[in-house]
Amino acid sequence: MFYFENIYIEKEIYNHPRTREIVDKFPEAKNIFVDRYMDVFGRARQDGRWQRRHPSLLLAKATGQLIYRGAPVCHNFGSEHFYYASSMKNCLYDCEYCYLKGMYSCGYVVIFVNLEDILEEAHELDQTLSRENSYRGMYLSVSFDTDLMAFDSMTGYARLWAEFAAEHPKVTVEIRTKGAPPITALQQEGRENLPPNLVMAYTISPQPMIDQFEHHTASLKARLTSAGNALKAGATVRLCFDPMIYQQNWKECYARMLDQVKEALPFSQIRDASVGTFRISADYLKRMRQVEPDSAAVQFPFETRKGYAGYPKELEQCMSGFLEKELLEAGLAPEKIYRLSD
Ligand code: SF4
Repeated sequence: MFYFENIYIEKEIYNHPRTREIVDKFPEAKNIFVDRYMDVFGRARQDGRWQRRHPSLLLAKATGQLIYRGAPVCHNFGSEHFYYASSMKNCLYDCEYCYLKGMYSCGYVVIFVNLEDILEEAHELDQTLSRENSYRGMYLSVSFDTDLMAFDSMTGYARLWAEFAAEHPKVTVEIRTKGAPPITALQQEGRENLPPNLVMAYTISPQPMIDQFEHHTASLKARLTSAGNALKAGATVRLCFDPMIYQQNWKECYARMLDQVKEALPFSQIRDASVGTFRISADYLKRMRQVEPDSAAVQFPFETRKGYAGYPKELEQCMSGFLEKELLEAGLAPEKIYRLSD
């Protein structure tokens, strides 16, 4: 169970029903009122490492633009209209290699309690795009800057996004996770089936990597069980074999993992898979290395190319190439495999 030492609450949303629900779940936490969450989250000279060992939560109202266009470097999975929504910042899971440790100097997690405003803006955007004759649909990633499922017992946001997908058939809603959500967390009352335009994107890692680097996340077995149940309930499932992390016995680990995936899931029903090795902006890596001084995943002697740190080219190609070949042999069509490293 997660805990928080302090909950910082923006005064404006103190009476929001979701604020009350979340605060009531942590009666031990000290409540501190602030004008804007950025007064805490955006402070200069923060010690992210210390903050992760002394977790605090910030409850805030998302303001300004709430749906963003995906940056050109983001993979758009074939969609011309690729957007993302951020309803949280940082994560309750604790992957050593998490890019958020490089992106934010603050280690506290933020939840924006006004999800309905974000849903409304996504609705408006779908309406606006629908006026274009060429509109085929929009791809909306909603587990961005966080893992939405890690918070779900506190927020219930996953079901609200599933409901949004059901009501907006042209919007493909992607929830990416290292969790193993029970399907009931996504089902609407009285409806067992999940909408096919809800994409549950599971990050798939070998169990030894999960044990070593992906703290508090679900086991491989649990992720695969959840993916199988999502398929049975009618959702679309994507498998994300990224980031692949180097270890001396990486080939053995990934081969064993693929055996487990093949045993657990019907490959013919998988929408697609992404494959890529660990790669991050060189600037983010500097900060991550301060937060994770003992992590083999982060302290690897990476090479920097075009501002991005990653494994040496040959190793990168060897690792991605191995996984791709195995996926093809397992029956996944080549056009269903997205290679993320360059
Ligand atoms: S699950 Fe994703 S967002 Fe959460 S800590 Fe791991 S890498 Fe970061």
